[in-house]
Amino acid sequence: MFMDYKQAVCLNGHQASIDININESVDSFCTECGAKLITNCTNCNYLIEGDWSRSGNGFVDLTHHNVFIPKYCEKCGKPYPWTQSALKAISETVNLSELDNNQKDDLKETIPDLLSDTPKSKLAVLKWKSIGKSLLPYIHDIIVEVASESIVKALYGR
Ligand SMILES: [Zn+2]
Ligand SMILES: [Zn+2]
Repeated sequence: MFMDYKQAVCLNGHQASIDININESVDSFCTECGAKLITNCTNCNYLIEGDWSRSGNGFVDLTHHNVFIPKYCEKCGKPYPWTQSALKAISETVNLSELDNNQKDDLKETIPDLLSDTPKSKLAVLKWKSIGKSLLPYIHDIIVEVASESIVKALYGR
């Protein structure tokens, strides 16, 4: 991993900055939603990878890169707070539904595969389009926010 900066992301997953110095601590809040900004994993304190520059030999790289907001900590593998909120919101939507408990468990198990592209994503989409069909409108905004384009398309495309 070659990074020069860490990024600051609010607890709800808004990216505030991608070029915080590695040793700098950030003590401010999101201008979009007011939530606290973090630059390190809340579980293991490992930093959230930010921008990089290829400097050297008098050459300074001023390219502005697009740095995406990661869903899971690269060090400990735990979901970041914004991922946790998405997982929790979808799982609560399932709990509020009128499905039976087996169906609920079945759907809840697939939630992580909806948020990230995994070998089980296709199966997860299939389950949501059958068992979870009536819930899809309720989770639409979360899915659009966190899932990949191909998953959004598979779930909501026609
Ligand atoms: Zn925010
Ligand atoms: Zn971590």
